Amino acid sequence: MAQEKQSFLHSYFKIPFIQRMAVAFVLGIIAGLIVGEPITVIQPIGTMFLRLLQMVVIPIVIFTLITAMKKLTPNQLGRVGGQTLVLYIATTAVAIIIGLIMANIFSPGTGLTLPGDFTMDPAEVPNMIDVFLNIVPSNVFNAMAQAQILQVLTFAIIFGIGLAFLRETASDEIKKGVDVLFLMTETASEVMFKIVRGVMEFGVFGVFALLATTFGNTGPEALVDFGVLILAFVLGVLIHMALVYGLVLNVVFLKASPLRFFNGAKDALLTAFATRSSAGTLPITMKVAEDNLKIDESVYSFTLPLGATINMDGTAMYQGVAAVFAANLIGESLTLAQQVTIVTTAVLASIGTAGVPGAGLIMLSMVLTQLGLPLGVVAFVAGVDPILDAFRTMNNIAGDLSVTSVVAKWNNKIDLNAGAWVGKTEKTLVKKDKK
Ligand code: ASP
Repeated sequence: MAQEKQSFLHSYFKIPFIQRMAVAFVLGIIAGLIVGEPITVIQPIGTMFLRLLQMVVIPIVIFTLITAMKKLTPNQLGRVGGQTLVLYIATTAVAIIIGLIMANIFSPGTGLTLPGDFTMDPAEVPNMIDVFLNIVPSNVFNAMAQAQILQVLTFAIIFGIGLAFLRETASDEIKKGVDVLFLMTETASEVMFKIVRGVMEFGVFGVFALLATTFGNTGPEALVDFGVLILAFVLGVLIHMALVYGLVLNVVFLKASPLRFFNGAKDALLTAFATRSSAGTLPITMKVAEDNLKIDESVYSFTLPLGATINMDGTAMYQGVAAVFAANLIGESLTLAQQVTIVTTAVLASIGTAGVPGAGLIMLSMVLTQLGLPLGVVAFVAGVDPILDAFRTMNNIAGDLSVTSVVAKWNNKIDLNAGAWVGKTEKTLVKKDKK
């Protein structure tokens, strides 16, 4: 019996991880659609997966970033930060434009009527001064406890810079201490990555449960009712990923194969789709950056947590598509000026959106208010939102990883001759060469 169990486990682990994950992914969707609402009994398995991921987010951000500060001067950090921000904002603006084009072509919402009257308090346009002030934590332990990634990021950078400066100026004794501290954070970040590997194994079951629950709750009817909205948005996401990340960022800027990029990023993309949380996916996003995309820690430890909080192309695109949907529902069409307003408001909305499930839907109320469109739309699409959120979050993570790859290339911090960037044949050639 024990032997049988052992051989079962042995054959299970012999199947490549990504195949097990892909099967769980597809079966989860099918089980959800077939079984429907009752499948939600397995939700705790999905929640456990999400909690395990959330458990490692803050430690992984702190440890990798402090370690990175050993290699990065404040000047280099400034350059990486500037390049990252420009690419993050530019790709987000393009995403909204693609979303608006798709919505104008497909005209989702035409023929549907908005049921009932519904009131809610709209989300407020973020005040830029507050956004800026909020980057600095007034209490770092509070920031950690509340998983305020941006605030934790700020503290870890400042602490790391402090350590690096200390190493230059302090007595020999203290210098030794600084080296020990750097070694400790490096060790701790390695431990975190080991834990993430284990969490991903559990994720095979977690992904199944999360997708079964999402699709079980939504049901096939909603997919049909909101078919045009889903179609316009999903096509927009695919076009954005293919054109902007695949063609512009990978082919033009990186001079690398988009297929290899997506192959390297796939664990993070699947997890993002299932968990619908950029912040929750962060540990896996960092792991694929390190292991598959061969990006140096000094870049991704900064750009990825930043991206998980402020770079949301899928979320921004959704605001555009949903705004046109809302206008169509009440039989109005948006003027060009209104569509330009959407671009600016949706960029701000996506920056202010937290990387958690459903946050983009709440931000939609802000965009609708700006345009004078009915807030009832938020409640109307809420039922189908988890499906749209899955695509939004996957798009968000693909954006973080592709911008990070490009910025890493601009700073010579990526190895395009290793990991997912080399195909099977090249790998065999390298192996043969070594022999
Ligand atoms: N769930 C998304 C994310 O975490 C945010 C959204 O709802 O659009 O990236």
